[in-house]
Amino acid sequence: MEGSVREPRVLVVGGGFAGFECARRLARPGGPAVTLVSPEDYFLYTPLLPEVAGSVLDPRHAAVPLAESLPGVRVLRGVVADVDLDEHTAEVAVPDAAGGRTERWDRLVLTPGSVTRVLDIPGLAERARGLKTLAEAVYLRDHLLGQLERSASLPPGDPACRACRTVVVVGASYAGTELVAQLRGLAHDAALHYRFPASDLHVVLLDVAAEVMPEVGSRLGRRALEVLRSRGVDVRLETTLRSVQSDTVTLSDGQTLPCGTLAWVTGVTANPLVGRLPLELHQGRAVVDEHLQVPGRPDVFAAGDAAAVPDPTEPGSVTPPTAQHATRQGRTLARNVLASLGGDRLTPYRHRDLGLTVDLGPGFAVANPFGVPLSGLAAKAVTRGYHLAALPRRANRLQVGLDWLLMATSPRPLVSLGLVHPERVALDGGQREAAAPAR
Ligand SMILES: Cc1cc2nc3c(=O)[nH]c(=O)nc-3n(C[C@H](O)[C@H](O)[C@H](O)COP(=O)(O)OP(=O)(O)OC[C@H]3O[C@@H](n4cnc5c(N)ncnc54)[C@H](O)[C@@H]3O)c2cc1C
Repeated sequence: MEGSVREPRVLVVGGGFAGFECARRLARPGGPAVTLVSPEDYFLYTPLLPEVAGSVLDPRHAAVPLAESLPGVRVLRGVVADVDLDEHTAEVAVPDAAGGRTERWDRLVLTPGSVTRVLDIPGLAERARGLKTLAEAVYLRDHLLGQLERSASLPPGDPACRACRTVVVVGASYAGTELVAQLRGLAHDAALHYRFPASDLHVVLLDVAAEVMPEVGSRLGRRALEVLRSRGVDVRLETTLRSVQSDTVTLSDGQTLPCGTLAWVTGVTANPLVGRLPLELHQGRAVVDEHLQVPGRPDVFAAGDAAAVPDPTEPGSVTPPTAQHATRQGRTLARNVLASLGGDRLTPYRHRDLGLTVDLGPGFAVANPFGVPLSGLAAKAVTRGYHLAALPRRANRLQVGLDWLLMATSPRPLVSLGLVHPERVALDGGQREAAAPAR
């Protein structure tokens, strides 16, 4: 139409912490036309995944529906398979649409997050499971319950029985440590239910580092270690996996342990999409400047786990892959995308560390809000309060709060739904998914 001006189009790749926050803030009357591409129709609040694996929370309660939470945003279910940075187009593989579709954009926001980093350890990719998705958390829960149920029908001294009752978690950063605490709680309750002594369980946490959770500081790390060990978790530091066999794992010190449940939570690497694009990378993450803009590409922005964002508090380093950074970078993204469309000045990314909260199972947590070290019930209250405040939808907050109340007043639900096929949670699944989105 003569005289009419087309709305600028913003394409957001990924509906995680950074993409969700950016899209939410961009969608406003008179603003650009925003399309968010996501393989899932929900935003996943990952900090609650260990509690989903431990059957404390219902999986749906950690999933925030995108369509309802992002009014004014066009949510396109699919996977961005390729981007032409010169032509300003993106190829999106969409379920049920053979050949996918082409999306045009004026501003591109790259926030596809990260995938589990898999090392070249024999047997690892085939037998271990990660903890990045809801499917993985549900699978771990179901698998462990299945193993414990099976063990109850085997003679206690039998090697197969010992394997079923052994859980090994590799990676003692906050995610792995929370997971081992939750799986231990689940296994204990299941032992009572299946009528075998909880002392038959062997729950192991491995890490190559000399301490657990270096992110929370050595004082809280030591406190967490004491509590885990007092609850029977066999924490082995400066130790990792050498190989994985069908019912056993061999450790770096040469010891072989029976093992029926193996979780690999040793860290993440940027989503492979950014490596396929002609972008400068820093340790696999897309290089951006302090405005979250890709150098030499003023129309392309990136943030979150997929981007190497300069950390203003530690010149020369980049921000760690955390939800806290991704959410706040999402806000800066929205502001700068709008500024770039309006020809205004861009704002540099700044942050103040709010600290970390780590839930370690019944009655215990560690946290360092604003640098104040807390442990025990005070930290538990801070941890839960933080998650309730950070969850972006009231119904999810109520559901999670209710789950916690039920956990405190009723037996843990020991239900193995068996809905997740092992193939769906293979450790290289993230990369396979990028080629073929889940239906
Ligand atoms: C178990 C666990 C516990 C954690 N606990 C904490 C915590 O307590 N505190 C904290 O600060 N951080 C925590 N983190 C880290 C935090 O989850 C990440 O740093 C954060 O999710 C990064 O946000 P993001 O937006 O970059 O990526 P994500 O939140 O991972 O979102 C990326 C999105 O992009 C989608 N996507 C991927 N590829 C494509 C594609 N090609 N096309 C379209 N969409 C795509 C993905 O499906 C996903 O929805 C935890 C992580 C895990 C795994």
